[in-house]
Amino acid sequence: MKSGTDWAAKVQYKRPLEDVLLLYQERLKQNGITLVRGEATAEWVVKQKADFVVLATGSIPFIPPVTGLELIRSYDFGNAIDGEVRERNVAVLGGGATGCETAEILMHQGKNVIILEMLDQLAGDLGNVRPLFLERMNEIGLQVYTGTRIWEIQKDRIIIQTQGKVRSLEGIEALVISCGVAPNNLLERQLQNSGVQSISVGDCRKVRNGFWAIRAGFELGMSFGAEQMARGAGSFGKAQRS
Ligand SMILES: Cc1cc2nc3c(=O)[nH]c(=O)nc-3n(C[C@H](O)[C@H](O)[C@H](O)COP(=O)(O)OP(=O)(O)OC[C@H]3O[C@@H](n4cnc5c(N)ncnc54)[C@H](O)[C@@H]3O)c2cc1C
Repeated sequence: MKSGTDWAAKVQYKRPLEDVLLLYQERLKQNGITLVRGEATAEWVVKQKADFVVLATGSIPFIPPVTGLELIRSYDFGNAIDGEVRERNVAVLGGGATGCETAEILMHQGKNVIILEMLDQLAGDLGNVRPLFLERMNEIGLQVYTGTRIWEIQKDRIIIQTQGKVRSLEGIEALVISCGVAPNNLLERQLQNSGVQSISVGDCRKVRNGFWAIRAGFELGMSFGAEQMARGAGSFGKAQRS
C-alpha cells in the first residue's frame, strides 16, 4: 500500500514532498529504527509481544454506491495516480483537490479527462489556496461538470444529472473514483480483544491532512518520552485506545 504522501508527491508541483519521504527514511536509519516492509496482519502484531503498538495505517478510498458501476472499468484515485488506467477517455468522479490532481496526472499521460462534481464548485475543500489552484486547473484546460451527479451507468454510456438536466455521456471508457477517503481502521478493529495495547494516530484516527498527521505523531512520541521518563520503560498505561 502507498501512503497519502506517496500519492501527493506524484503531482508535479508537490514533488518536494519526495524529499520529506527521503528525510524520514534517513531519520529512521540514524535513530536505529528497523523498517520491516510488508503488510502487518493482526496475527503478526500479536506475535511481536510489544508493550505497546502505535497504529498509523492512514486512510482508504471511499467508494460510493453507483448504479451500474460493474458495467464500466473503474479505479480508485490511488490506482489512477499509480498509472494503472489503460483507457484513454476517462471520467473522474469527484472534483475535490485529490480528484483535480488525479485528473491533471491523467491529462499528462495523454488522456481525455472530464471531472464530474456534485457541488457547484471545484476543490471546495482547499480554503485559502483555492484561487491559485483554480487558476492552475484553468491553465491546464480541465473539463468540468459541476452540479452533477451520476444517475446510472449503462453499457457504453453514463447518465448524469447536471444542473438539473439529465444527459447522456458516451464514449467514456473508465471511471476514476475520487470521493474522499475514510480512516483505515481495519487493523485496529482486528486487534480489539487481542490483549494488545494500541493507539491510533493520523488519518486512521481522523482523516485530516499531512501537517496534522505529522504533528499528531510527533506529540504522541513526545508524550511517550515524558511518560517513559516518569515511569520507566515499557509502561504507557495512560494512552487510550481510539
Ligand atoms: C492524493 C492526495 C494528496 C494529498 N495532498 C496533501 C497535501 O497537499 N497536503 C497535506 O497536508 N496533505 C495532503 N494529503 C493528505 C496526507 O497525505 C495525509 O493526511 C497523510 O499522509 C496522513 O498520514 P498518515 O501517516 O496518517 O497516513 P499515510 O501517510 O496514509 O500512511 C499510512 C501508511 O500505513 C501503511 N499501512 C496501512 N495498513 C498497513 C498494514 N496493515 N501493515 C503495514 N502498513 C500498513 C500504508 O501503506 C501507508 O504507508 C493528500 C492525500 C492524498 C491521498
